[in-house]
Amino acid sequence: MVNRTDKMSRQKSSIIGAKKKIALVAHDNMKKSMIEWAKYNKAELQQHEIYATGTTGTLLEKELEIPVNKFLSGPLGGDQQIGASIAEGQINFLVFFWDPLEQQPHDPDVKALLRIAVLWNIPVASNRSSADFLFSSILMNEAYQRKIEDFEEYLHRKI
Ligand code: PGA
Repeated sequence: MVNRTDKMSRQKSSIIGAKKKIALVAHDNMKKSMIEWAKYNKAELQQHEIYATGTTGTLLEKELEIPVNKFLSGPLGGDQQIGASIAEGQINFLVFFWDPLEQQPHDPDVKALLRIAVLWNIPVASNRSSADFLFSSILMNEAYQRKIEDFEEYLHRKI
């Protein structure tokens, strides 16, 4: 078996531009908090391209009057669409206020989305203070070279 540390040392990089492609997702009990946070950060959000799961996106459009690229509602496949977009490099930043106190019908999708975000090494905030720290980073308005694992060996593995 290939040593994982060796594998990790083979890395590639990919640029996250100054204008980020940010996905915003909030479970129902967290939507109020997401809207408050987004209102507070509206000026910064407007510097970037905004994506969201269906219901979160509709609320953001209504409350902030900003354009939002909306996917399906989370439980109907929206989380998976965002995960696929991260894997394809179409989304490179995630603010996901998931509910720590309630099970979701689409818990496997939630886990999958968080896994994909870590795999592709994009910035992820799961609560308001993390989102505040990320949004106050100087990197918000600069290009950033994101390290990603080189999957060539995996893709050409012997079956
Ligand atoms: P929603 O989805 O924005 O459509 O409510 C959020 C989620 O549960 O993933």
